[in-house]
Amino acid sequence: MFGGLKDMFGKAKCKIGLHKGAWKYTGEDCQQERECELCGHISQREHHTWNDWNYVSDDNCTQVRECERCRTTENQMQHVWGDEQYVRSNSCDTIQTCLRCGSRRSVTTKHEFTSWQYVDSTSCKQLEVCSRCAQNGTTTRVQHDWGDWQYSDSRATSVRICRHCGEVENFQKQDTL
Ligand SMILES: [Zn+2]
Ligand SMILES: [Zn+2]
Ligand SMILES: [Zn+2]
Ligand SMILES: [Zn+2]
Ligand SMILES: [Zn+2]
Repeated sequence: MFGGLKDMFGKAKCKIGLHKGAWKYTGEDCQQERECELCGHISQREHHTWNDWNYVSDDNCTQVRECERCRTTENQMQHVWGDEQYVRSNSCDTIQTCLRCGSRRSVTTKHEFTSWQYVDSTSCKQLEVCSRCAQNGTTTRVQHDWGDWQYSDSRATSVRICRHCGEVENFQKQDTL
């Protein structure tokens, strides 16, 4: 009875193509056949036994591998990419060069947002700017251009004025001083 259940379960698998049994070579080449232990279905496949990939020559990136059994060969390109480098001094497009054959591929756009620019002349809001290609970024900050501290009679404290936007800041006594 248990055997019968197991059979039913196995045959359900057969229905969706999951047959059971060992693959066997049918001849000298790499064709294999499998007869399903449960339903007798015969499946076929090509199954090579590949050696490692090897470069064909030193100045080219074609690799070849050979099947141990039937000597069929297969090719692929396997470049050895170097570090990302900028294409031009005023652009942020980067490329990589293959260390073996000198082939190039473009990679990404890599901005260096290390500069800041005022958004307008009346406020001190600044926007980050790429120092290489001058493209605007998304981060903003407020950066006042403070003048020297001066004593203000009307405020009875020292104040300083931003040279850019005219904002006035009162001197704050710091407890730690
Ligand atoms: Zn089967
Ligand atoms: Zn083969
Ligand atoms: Zn290459
Ligand atoms: Zn840039
Ligand atoms: Zn300001």
